[in-house]
Amino acid sequence: MGALPARPVYARVDLGALAHNLRAITAASGGAKIMAVVKANAYGHGLVPVAQLFERLGADALAVAVPEEGAALRAAGVAAPILVMGALLPQQFPILFDNGLAFSATAPESLAAIDAAAAERGVRAPVHLKLDTGMQRVGVQWRAAGAFIEQALRCKHVQIAGVYSHFAAADEANLASARLQLECFLEALQNFERLRAPLPLRHIANSGAVLQLPEAQLDLVRPGILLYGVYPSDECARSIAVRPALGLHAAVTHVKQLAAGTPVSYGGSWQSAQAVTLATLPIGYGDGYMRALSSRAPVLLRGKRYGVAGRVCMDQLLVNVAADTVDVGETATLLGSDGTQEISAAELAQLAGTIAYEVLTNIGARVPRVYAGP
Ligand SMILES: *Cc1c(COP(=O)(O)O)cnc(C)c1O
Repeated sequence: MGALPARPVYARVDLGALAHNLRAITAASGGAKIMAVVKANAYGHGLVPVAQLFERLGADALAVAVPEEGAALRAAGVAAPILVMGALLPQQFPILFDNGLAFSATAPESLAAIDAAAAERGVRAPVHLKLDTGMQRVGVQWRAAGAFIEQALRCKHVQIAGVYSHFAAADEANLASARLQLECFLEALQNFERLRAPLPLRHIANSGAVLQLPEAQLDLVRPGILLYGVYPSDECARSIAVRPALGLHAAVTHVKQLAAGTPVSYGGSWQSAQAVTLATLPIGYGDGYMRALSSRAPVLLRGKRYGVAGRVCMDQLLVNVAADTVDVGETATLLGSDGTQEISAAELAQLAGTIAYEVLTNIGARVPRVYAGP
């Protein structure tokens, strides 16, 4: 691991775990290409170092949500194909052209605008056609795919690099709706044969489908959360063994003895019936450690579980270490493991009433990332 930052708060990212997860997913994906999803700062793990690792380890392509993420990767020297998922407005096109990013065409108008902009530049834009098979977010309804594909074939400045869709519920125990989405997607793909057009890369599998629907692997899979060692939901099958890669840590900055019955933090919403030791950590919701975790979440110190005492502040929080001792400067673990104890993103998500994705992506820019491993 590199030198620790001066700020006594950091997210430790285990590159070995990320590498293991990519290999495990590749081995389970039946020869399909891997498009590693690195949107939202690589799910909080740090966009550039994570993308560079996945590229070095042989990921065939990367996916981001917004063009600026792709531009940051190109500036860092990432050469792999990068797909910008999601709908685009013309004002965003220059970033894609200037950085050699692949477009998502999400409607006939969007495809026409991409074609016109590419014509103006005298280039061919790599485009993935986005079909909607049930998510109702963006994309052309699968029943209208025939006309959309015909339109794409007529576009002189578009290179059809792929065709894709997205599952709404591939991480649930009941896979009926996901299976129906896959059927609709496959039916829509028959238009390529009907039009005697070559099939571009077909892809639909997110992490849930990678784990539960091998028939959805097609030409390429698009895992996100699973690469980071986290399962997409509690009910999703854990058919691939992955390891969490992120630990969130903060050093104790203040320790005091608290008399019984003393109200603690904003609003005085927490107090102890006994005298306790209270440790202060310099991390708060301004770092993405959610306020909803106030008086609920566990914190690890010296390999033992304690609890957040009172409201999480913007920049600090308090830990009830009960009758135990702790010293200023010791490192606490808010997410990840310490000895035999572990706090998972899923556990924090449950306590905060959200999902592990949000726990990870919330970890803010103010938290330095420290990389450990290969
Ligand atoms: C975020 C995203 C993914 C990855 O989803 P996970 O559930 O994290 O695997 C795949 N495809 C699209 C279109 C996405 O937006």
